[in-house]
Amino acid sequence: MSNLKQKLYEELALKNLLANTGVGFDPKIFTQIGSSHAESVHCLFDYSVDEHVGVNIPPAFVLPHGLITLLKADNRSPYRLERDADRFIITQGGNEITEVTFIKRPKYYDLKTTDGTPMKNVAVYGSDGVIFIAYSNECSLKESGKDCLFCNINHTKATYGEVEGINWKYPKQIGETVAAAYKEGGRHLTISGGFVPERREVEYYLDVAESIKEHTGLEDFNGTACIGAPHDLSVISKYKEAGYRTLATNIEVWDRNFFKAYCPGKEELCGGYDHWIKSLKHSVNVFGRGRVRSNLVGGLESKQSTLEGLEYLADAGVIALAPAWNPNNGSALEGHRSPEAEWHLDLAYRNAAILQKHGYTYEQLYDAYANSQTLVHDIYRIENELLPVFNSNEVLEEAF
Ligand code: SF4
Repeated sequence: MSNLKQKLYEELALKNLLANTGVGFDPKIFTQIGSSHAESVHCLFDYSVDEHVGVNIPPAFVLPHGLITLLKADNRSPYRLERDADRFIITQGGNEITEVTFIKRPKYYDLKTTDGTPMKNVAVYGSDGVIFIAYSNECSLKESGKDCLFCNINHTKATYGEVEGINWKYPKQIGETVAAAYKEGGRHLTISGGFVPERREVEYYLDVAESIKEHTGLEDFNGTACIGAPHDLSVISKYKEAGYRTLATNIEVWDRNFFKAYCPGKEELCGGYDHWIKSLKHSVNVFGRGRVRSNLVGGLESKQSTLEGLEYLADAGVIALAPAWNPNNGSALEGHRSPEAEWHLDLAYRNAAILQKHGYTYEQLYDAYANSQTLVHDIYRIENELLPVFNSNEVLEEAF
């Protein structure tokens, strides 16, 4: 193995550690966040332990060889993000362990839609051309107490919604924002959100696709529609006809009894565990192998069970990933502990090996997933030498 790959695997282990333990910091150090560099925009879930209402903090930081780590704010962590003159560093016990940089702010974050809505509130920029749209930051499962036990979608809206203006997104707003983001280099989007009362999401997703096509001029806009398994499986072809390249239905846990316990609403409203699997298989028939994605929350059940799920789904044509469970504030599991960082790193290596064994490419992974910075994405990029650092001795700060 080359020295560079060795360094990248070490960096991957550090990324995994910092993402799991979080980092503490004084937000006053972030003077350039929200101007030259991107600020965190709340959308769907918040992973931080320390809440930061009305304070600009970065969504992520970039390690020296280019791996990007989600910023989880937690002042209980032994790791601190500090400023040293013009440099930002991670320290442990007062000793520097690495330097970090931040993601550049996309220009569309300064723009507004024609109805005056800030575009940054419509579509959040991740990195590497990936944008994410949560049409709603509410899940109707909450009303019946059947929301997933690990989820804090409603809590995130209750905490940040008023200050940040987290509202329902309309198709025209999305079309205009995607057009602006794609002009700057955006090349993949995911539309997601909580359950809509009465499961009226199909019509909405079709309207959104029409608007994106109208405003971008693209027939294939490389979009992922993330939905709950529909009762009537015949509607799945409508998403494909509307122009979505990929479809996501997240089963979250593989053991059927755990599914019932952790996802009571998905169990009751989507025809149960077996129907969820049937829906995924039907989606593969419609969209094609490697064009359907499902997520498992790594750490909610035994590693063995998760691996069985990853293997089964990959064999069935589904790209399935199991990123680390973070016990989010406001979720029913707040205060619980996720497995140790090493547990998650081992799972990620095995997850990547399963996908590779079944022949899935990095491009399929990129197109199917809502962000491009999971550990599995990194393993693919290291093994296939797809990171900018392989083309340059200098590691470029992540740019849009
Ligand atoms: S379906 Fe579950 S994971 Fe999805 S938003 Fe609702 S509660 Fe959260």
